[in-house]
Amino acid sequence: MKPKNQIILAFIFCAVITFSGCATAPLKEALPVYNIKGATYYPLIPLCELRGVNWQYDTFTRIVSLSKGAHRVSLKAGDDLVLVNQRALILNHPVDIYEGTIVVPAKFKEQVIDVLFKTLKSTPAKPVGFNISAKIRKVIIDAGHGGNDPGAIGRTGLREKDVNLDIAKRLAILLRSEGVNVVMTRSTDRFIPLDMRVQITNNAKVDLFISIHSNANHARSMNGFEVYYVATSLNDAKRALLAARSANLNLESASFASNSLELRAILWDMLYAYDRAESIQLARNICKSVGSNMDVRVIGVKDARYEVLRGARVPAVLVETGFLSNYKEERMLKNGYYRQKVAESIMEGLRDYAQGLASTEGV
Ligand SMILES: [Zn+2]
Repeated sequence: MKPKNQIILAFIFCAVITFSGCATAPLKEALPVYNIKGATYYPLIPLCELRGVNWQYDTFTRIVSLSKGAHRVSLKAGDDLVLVNQRALILNHPVDIYEGTIVVPAKFKEQVIDVLFKTLKSTPAKPVGFNISAKIRKVIIDAGHGGNDPGAIGRTGLREKDVNLDIAKRLAILLRSEGVNVVMTRSTDRFIPLDMRVQITNNAKVDLFISIHSNANHARSMNGFEVYYVATSLNDAKRALLAARSANLNLESASFASNSLELRAILWDMLYAYDRAESIQLARNICKSVGSNMDVRVIGVKDARYEVLRGARVPAVLVETGFLSNYKEERMLKNGYYRQKVAESIMEGLRDYAQGLASTEGV
């Protein structure tokens, strides 16, 4: 009974603190609060980061695992049952996903997070650094392929579209936790025609465009991470040829091997990075970050050799996160922890890029 009483006391205490914090004093925890179907929800990842709680989200199983010290908590999106140190706790509302972010009902914050993780000394989870949103306010994340276009398929059956979407979602969560507005060309497993991806980008008025892909090569040994940017201009004849080809391209049925270059060509054609130097800088920052944060071969920055005819005038890069055709990299990309590291490394590359912008332009 005693621990229960303590929990209730802590709950009341925290509720009072939070409430009074909202009303008068500057908030120690400036967390967004959502009202979903009449219930109060908090975004889980920013909450974890505030408390120095380690988190891992597997978008395939939709299970979030939290840990700090000896405490372990598991939650599942869509479920109102959570496991707290092996004991089941039923929430009054399910864990949910709202605008691409995992959200938890107030009860979970108050009875689990505030109790288990508040008493422990928190370590700053987020490195104190430049806040990306100071220079980059809105980003498009384009998870390559989707629906009936699986993209590359690894030897054990891992599909590129799933890997791309998972990394894209993780990156979106990270960016949103820093206040960046993220638009995703797709947030589910569905096919988005290229022209629609472009339309989304054009309508969104973004600062950056990042397309996430995973590679494949006939040479199984081929491995590594690379980032593409838009290259210098094609001549008019090539451009006309490209346009003619793209008009005939059956996007729905074309296989990965035959269409990937075409897809990229059209994509880049439509998303012109008006300042190529910016895209190159962004690509370099991402590669550098991946090189220093991950044990992976960084192939480097490459130009995609396509000129873009029209479209959003934003710096744009296409990230190839690894080779699904390579046994080792397929195994790594299958791992949620690894995909999280990829997203975090891209994020840090973006941070370096944003910081570079600030130092050249002045914040
Ligand atoms: Zn791809």
